[in-house]
Amino acid sequence: MKSLQEIALDLQGYDPQSLSAEQAEAFLQHLAPSAVPSKAVELPVAQALERIVATDIVSPVSVPPHDNSAMDGYAFHSADLSVGGDLRLRCVGTALAGPAWSGQVAQGECLKIMTGAVMPVGLDTVIPAEFTRTDGNQIVFSSQVVKAGDNRRLCGEDLMQGQVALPRGTRLGPAALGLLASLGIPTVPVYARLRVAYFSTGTEILSLGDAPREGAVFDSNRYTVMGMLARLGCEMVDLGVCPDDPELLRVRFQQVASSADVVITSGGISVGEADFTKAMMRELGDVAFWRIAMRPGRPMAVGRIGSCVLFGLPGNPVAVMVTFIAFVRPALLRLMGANDQPLPMVRARCMEKMRKKPGRTEYQRGRLSRAANGDWQVATTGQQGSGVLRSMVEADGLVVLAHDSADVQVGDWVEVMLFDAMG
Ligand code: AMP
Ligand code: MG
Repeated sequence: MKSLQEIALDLQGYDPQSLSAEQAEAFLQHLAPSAVPSKAVELPVAQALERIVATDIVSPVSVPPHDNSAMDGYAFHSADLSVGGDLRLRCVGTALAGPAWSGQVAQGECLKIMTGAVMPVGLDTVIPAEFTRTDGNQIVFSSQVVKAGDNRRLCGEDLMQGQVALPRGTRLGPAALGLLASLGIPTVPVYARLRVAYFSTGTEILSLGDAPREGAVFDSNRYTVMGMLARLGCEMVDLGVCPDDPELLRVRFQQVASSADVVITSGGISVGEADFTKAMMRELGDVAFWRIAMRPGRPMAVGRIGSCVLFGLPGNPVAVMVTFIAFVRPALLRLMGANDQPLPMVRARCMEKMRKKPGRTEYQRGRLSRAANGDWQVATTGQQGSGVLRSMVEADGLVVLAHDSADVQVGDWVEVMLFDAMG
């Protein structure tokens, strides 16, 4: 485990007082690197949503297990196509999905077949029913509308027996759960959930249910962080709110260091704060205090308390979400043993002018829509203050204005990060 000082020495031009978002991310790749969590558990597939697969899952069977029809229609020998023109085939039976049809089909004959039914040996092509007409016990269709091998699904075309169905590190989404089930796999080894302790700091912060008092605000950060952690499949250890009080902060930090893999706090790290949170982080851990060239979210503390990785996020509600999305999310996924999962980005035309100073990364809250020509376009969600949580609620994505970029004009292309696709 490298100390913060060792990490800093490895990075060119590292200055904690003036760090680009890219440098901050590079540092965190060392502080919270891709890990192979030591503990795994075997879970029923139905309980494994959002968990991370702990070993390569090898397919015990081929999917599909046999050649089958992709359409409702008539299966026949493709050799019959060489005749050309209209084909006339005698129908000798019907194959339903389920056990294979047991008869024989000769050239010049066909078999009525339903989607998913096993293709009898020798038959390789299916003509969909809608391209045929029946004439007594014969069907008639043009040889022009179908090619040899059409509308047949081959054994193993989805997955071959012995092939890796899900590599280690895969996050189990709905499709992956379905795939496991399709292979007849009832349980899956997954990593133990990452334990993430969280508390909000600030004497002015109220918990829900507390009586309002002058100058106080309700704790929203706990709920945004809770939601973001839940979507990532982390286990949250909710430690509530801690007032700006050195002794109470000490107890909280000592508590988390022994009970969690990661601790996240909000508040108490900006310049001009009564310095208790920072002082306690400094005393109990190996912690760097950053000023990141970004907006919102300039101050951030990172480091370790014991073996627990620490993220001290700013207090402002939007800054908490933006720093979480930009830095904490990728770090948690690495620590969870998950394979790379960047958030999707969309290129959109900007519908309004945006002022932007080169030399910092900006994250504007944006609302996407479709222009008349089908291009994505994006407008900001009004007031962009870092305390305006409504701007996040109304946004579909963050317009990411890169470090070196300057003002954006109407019609310019910008990149929009779809944070709500997050998990
Ligand atoms: P700080 O970083 O502690 O200076 O806080 C910056 C601003 O965010 C102040 O206006 C705080 O009242 C506000 N704030 C801090 N923590 C929270 C929280 N948990 N929920 C809502 N607002 C907060
Ligand atoms: Mg504070």
